[in-house]
Amino acid sequence: MPRKLAAGNWKMNGTAASLDQIDALAEADEGAAEVLICPPATLIHAAAQRARGVMIGAQDCHTADKGAHTGDLSAPMLADAGASHIITGHSERRADHGETDAVVRAKTEAVWAAGLTAILCIGETLDQREAGETLEVLAEQMAGSVPDGVTGTQLVIAYEPVWAIGTGKVPTTDQIAEVHEFMFKKLEDRFGSEVAGDTRLLYGGSVKASNATEIFAVPHVDGALVGGASLKAEDFAPIVEALN
Ligand code: PGA
Repeated sequence: MPRKLAAGNWKMNGTAASLDQIDALAEADEGAAEVLICPPATLIHAAAQRARGVMIGAQDCHTADKGAHTGDLSAPMLADAGASHIITGHSERRADHGETDAVVRAKTEAVWAAGLTAILCIGETLDQREAGETLEVLAEQMAGSVPDGVTGTQLVIAYEPVWAIGTGKVPTTDQIAEVHEFMFKKLEDRFGSEVAGDTRLLYGGSVKASNATEIFAVPHVDGALVGGASLKAEDFAPIVEALN
């Protein structure tokens, strides 16, 4: 079994002063779970320099490794800055930047080409869930955005229902169990049981200390991708502890 992973996504939050939170997290963390913080790109290098036990990741990358793409950052550049992981296909990027499954797939391949691990996000909207389309939508996202040639250590998949992100609403544990079992089966069908067993499946969307323990008890939940509650060490440390 791979190690559990507690991943924090700071989104567009944080300045140099926020690096203190990573120091505090490193001090609090003594457990078996891996801890990753994905700060804004402006902080990756400084964070990686002082992170000690905490891994540092990025929130996005370009599909190309260099060139005329003003304002963009490539996976090799993020690796050079100290990132070990890159999030791909977050619903905010799918919505704000029109990222399609094909783009997410190309970005994930770029992450692997740079030797890093991708945390690929999928999730249904509220309309899709209410229409009973959740598994169909997730199957389509997995088929379209997960590249061929997966090895379990290069890929982490995060199930993030769009309606649960930043809303305080969380699916029931039965709903999470249904989706995680489904993702595992899809990986098993396509890549075999060894790869499926090695690919960590995270839940994301309004995870906090008060709900982490019950979410982490759901089969095939190998950790969490946490937004708001990852910004402060005092909020994130108990979530990490719930994984240990
Ligand atoms: P949240 O965000 O924990 O603030 O809901 C999760 C995410 O978007 O990764």
